Amino acid sequence: MDNMKNAKKKKSEILFIFCILGYFVLFLGNFILDSFSGEVINLGRGVISVSSFNGVLNSLQALLCTVMVCINYKRGLYISFVLFGFSLIGMFRTIIFAHILAPIPGITYVVISVFTLTVLAHYLKQRDIDLITDSLTGLSNRNGLIRILGKKCSDNAKFDVVYVDLDDFKFINDNLGHKGGDIVLKTVANRLVELVGKNGVVSRIGGDEFLLLVPELSEITPFINQIINYVARKIDVIDEETNKRNVREIYVTTSVGVAKYPEHSTNPDELIKFADLAMYNAKKEGKNKGLVFDFSFDEAEARKSRIEALIKKSLDKDYFYLVYQPQFGTEDHKLRGFETLLRLKTPEGKMVSPGEFIPIAEGTNLISHIDDYVLKRALHEFREVMQRRKEKIILSINMSAKDICMAGFAKYVEQAIVEENFPPECLEIEITEYCFAHSQENASENITRLRELGVHIALDDFGTGYASLSYLTKLPIDLLKIDKSFIDNIETDKKSKAFMDTVISIGRLHGCKIISEGVESEKQVELIRDAGCDYIQGYVWGKPLSYDDAIALCSE
Ligand code: C2E
Ligand code: CA
Ligand code: CA
Repeated sequence: MDNMKNAKKKKSEILFIFCILGYFVLFLGNFILDSFSGEVINLGRGVISVSSFNGVLNSLQALLCTVMVCINYKRGLYISFVLFGFSLIGMFRTIIFAHILAPIPGITYVVISVFTLTVLAHYLKQRDIDLITDSLTGLSNRNGLIRILGKKCSDNAKFDVVYVDLDDFKFINDNLGHKGGDIVLKTVANRLVELVGKNGVVSRIGGDEFLLLVPELSEITPFINQIINYVARKIDVIDEETNKRNVREIYVTTSVGVAKYPEHSTNPDELIKFADLAMYNAKKEGKNKGLVFDFSFDEAEARKSRIEALIKKSLDKDYFYLVYQPQFGTEDHKLRGFETLLRLKTPEGKMVSPGEFIPIAEGTNLISHIDDYVLKRALHEFREVMQRRKEKIILSINMSAKDICMAGFAKYVEQAIVEENFPPECLEIEITEYCFAHSQENASENITRLRELGVHIALDDFGTGYASLSYLTKLPIDLLKIDKSFIDNIETDKKSKAFMDTVISIGRLHGCKIISEGVESEKQVELIRDAGCDYIQGYVWGKPLSYDDAIALCSE
């Protein structure tokens, strides 16, 4: 990048020198022509006076000056003034000492050229300012910031880069409309400028993202708190749609990330990236807070990129395989079915846990490819057993919230079932409450359609997500899965035990069956059985099995 910039700079330097030399050559030409000013050249059919060639040379001089202004409006204009100054001296010399008035048109030409170039330089300057200024707040934008940051990095004085990002700004925009959102952004911008004062720079580098450059802070936490408190003050937004006088009070929270020059990096792009990463981690830790960059953030990010690449490769080269964890009736220990769980093993034999790669895949569209792989492969592997077995068992498959919310998801599952000739009543789709956070309408439609086909619906990780009760009344859920985190503590924690009892009562009320997940001890089994829970899935009665072992268990 720096090399490219340097090469460009060198090119324009050379062009400048050519223009200046050219100008002097033309100047000399004019000078020589002046000595033949009274003469004419015979062109056969007519004559042309030698002095008219002065006009041609003047135009070429103006052209060279225009080129210089276009390359660098400030320097170009300055040099043009000096060069035109030379020309004017020459012309006045002719008028004063030789008493010849022939240069008067040339003088007019120079004055007009100076005026035109000044207008051009002003226009270019304005365009340059627009390029580096954010039109809404008047602050520097990302381009402007990168220039300032580049200069600061070459100054070698210590400073801090502070990334400020408003929390849930989309929500504010949706609620207030864009005009209201703009008022919030302008108010926040003014507050940050007020806070940073003359010693620092505030820029707006994206929708609701601001970046501050401040002299090195001896104590960062008080400054972060100051930012958060300053931004959090009430903002009055006039509701233009309903009533101009109807002022709505808005409160915004922010997440902040700090990177330090030169401690964390001396590279402008990297400093922004690190401050952004620190801010991102502050968001992950619950928002409305600030963090200073730590190299472990970068390592985590790098690992995320590596896992993402590994997922792509695994889909391509088939490093994935499925295991099946059995589920049993609590009372009779009878096999209810299996939960399909995905495994990733690299050719080097390294296992990567779905607890790590599924959330990463969920952040990209890779999750849809994974879900597609699991559904088709599981249906294929179990179709014969399901067709053959007299007593029906259930194959349960996890589907990400993203897919459940996709229009046409039910149709896609139906096609897969038909293709494999898989009995729909033997299939269960595990969904989580996050489905309803994305698109409630599509999720509800898909779930209802799947249930009509005969597919079972299980609500996974029950109790860990949003308030879930309303879904139970609206949707045909067959099975509630009590999350392992509640089961872990039922022996010692009264709240967990009470939660389990409540879930069982709620489940009964809505006609759902209940399964406890992550059961590890006989003591837990006893408590779960006494509470009236229908099924158990856990290491105590069965770890996830390989395909062959699962099929063998089916035939027992
Ligand atoms: P989950 O759906 O809640 O799956 C249950 C997890 O608990 C599984 O971990 C299972 O192995 C583990 N587990 C079951 N019983 C016990 C126990 O008694 N003790 C302990 N310590 N753990 C137990 P796993 O396979 O690592 O999966 C983790 C998560 O990854 C799953 O949580 C699920 O959210 C996701 N996942 C796994 N396979 C798939 C898949 O095929 N598709 C999608 N979309 N997500 C999957
Ligand atoms: Ca599950
Ligand atoms: Ca679960």
